[in-house]
Amino acid sequence: MIIQLDPNITDAEQQQLSDKLASIKFKATNVKTQYANYLIGVGKGEFDIRSIGNLPGIRDIHRVSDAYKLVSRKWKVQDTVLEIGEDIKIGTGHFALMAGPCSIESEEQIAATIHHLKDNGVKIMRGGVYKPRSSPYSFRGLGIDGLKLWHSMAKEAGIAIITEVMMVEQIEAMADYVDIFQVGARNSQNFNLLDALGEVDKPVLLKRGISGTLDELLQSAEYIFSHGNEKIMLCERGIRTFEKAYRNTMDINAIAMLKEKSHLPVIADPSHGIGVRQFVDKIALASVMAGADGVIFEVHATPEKAFSDGQQTLNFQEANLLIGRMRKAFQLREEF
Ligand code: PEP
Ligand code: MN
Repeated sequence: MIIQLDPNITDAEQQQLSDKLASIKFKATNVKTQYANYLIGVGKGEFDIRSIGNLPGIRDIHRVSDAYKLVSRKWKVQDTVLEIGEDIKIGTGHFALMAGPCSIESEEQIAATIHHLKDNGVKIMRGGVYKPRSSPYSFRGLGIDGLKLWHSMAKEAGIAIITEVMMVEQIEAMADYVDIFQVGARNSQNFNLLDALGEVDKPVLLKRGISGTLDELLQSAEYIFSHGNEKIMLCERGIRTFEKAYRNTMDINAIAMLKEKSHLPVIADPSHGIGVRQFVDKIALASVMAGADGVIFEVHATPEKAFSDGQQTLNFQEANLLIGRMRKAFQLREEF
């Protein structure tokens, strides 16, 4: 169960509530986020919801039987809409685009990408400065110096930054230069990292694990929320299946179903979702029609020369075309 506490709840009222939960053998966890105070009750016994709901100091109470609670739609019917800066909204009714290279490579590359994004009205730039690579001999990113350079250029252009954080220790140094923290597929169940991102007041885009189920993704999101940060987006980026014809299998089903299971915004990553440049546009459009609140994709002036993931990266011309089509698809979907 989720109990929303009155911000002015007294210690005595809090104690009365804890005693009540103990009496029905529910384990209680206090959650304090940037927006509200909650008490999460986990247990199996039957109880009369009114006997708790009527106690003083409580704003609202909801039964949530899912393993994940705060990210579930069962208590929050209204969709969450995140605000980034003054003019970016992510969530139902808004369509968010995030584009940029797989890896941040150089000043020239950052400048060219920013120019391309501004031309297309894209307000969020993606790029990795810490890269999780399958091989330790591959390019692993420019690190914090690359992030600082990128930040100074993006800020001047009014572009927000989303980039991957791989370790708890990186969070503090990165925080001033990042608008959205990305948790990559390989860290989707790095619970220490998720706990730590719960303590930061910055949006987090959480990717689904390479072989992660939707329940696992939602429980990972619950880690962030229950540690204090409600600003979360879920990201479908393809999963590993028996099919070898493409890098990953984009699970379009997941987009529709996550929108049903959770109130959080759902973002599609068709670049990693299929991993083949030629088909990224089709999968992006399918994702929009399936209900995605936004799309994150890889773009580079010369994908053939990209330091990573060139095979799935669009060039500027391809991206121009796709951006226009995605916006049209979103409008069409909103009319349905
Ligand atoms: C990326 O966004 O470049 C990336 C490494 O993504 P994922 O974690 O989905 O593989
Ligand atoms: Mn990539």
